[in-house]
Amino acid sequence: LTDINALADEYIRLSYHGLRAKDKSFNADFKLNLDPELPKIPVIPQDIGRVLLNLINNAFYAVNEKAKEKAKEAQEAFQPVVTVTTSVSQNKSGLSEALIVVQDNGHGIPDHIKDKIFQPFFTTKPTGAGTGLGLSLSYDIVNAHGGELKIESEPGEGSSFSIFLPIQE
Ligand code: ADP
Ligand code: MG
Repeated sequence: LTDINALADEYIRLSYHGLRAKDKSFNADFKLNLDPELPKIPVIPQDIGRVLLNLINNAFYAVNEKAKEKAKEAQEAFQPVVTVTTSVSQNKSGLSEALIVVQDNGHGIPDHIKDKIFQPFFTTKPTGAGTGLGLSLSYDIVNAHGGELKIESEPGEGSSFSIFLPIQE
């Protein structure tokens, strides 16, 4: 059984410190909103860890890019932040499921690419910055665990990726 809260805490710090160490201009903050009532769930920690890391890295990338743009414009204050929230939710059949939301206030996802982002090798990042495999892999891992990965995004405002995972085996 996997403690999702501990995993979220570990991976957001890993991602944050990794990116800061690599890029001196990295500018972002993070928040954790972890539900202490969330039970441990029957998933492989490395798999869900991989999904979390993909989503968190994408979120930090998006807020950091927006921070760079805002710094160029030098008009409004912008506080780049990535938030991971966990909670217990109910599915349509009334069964409890774990909900993990990775939210960012980055540049968001334009409508014309929203349906492409889960395709393998689709990336909008410069060569070397992305493989385009993160979301397609994450989608497959979540599905293999009987879960669902959903996305909401408002161009210019930010994005939110929700992972739903069954609590019972
Ligand atoms: P990669 O990160 O290597 O580009 P992914 O599969 O992780 O590949 O993501 C595919 C594309 O989806 C990204 O290149 C980007 O255009 C878009 N994307 C993913 N997450 C976000 C996000 N949080 N904010 C904005 N765009 C995103
Ligand atoms: Mg990625």
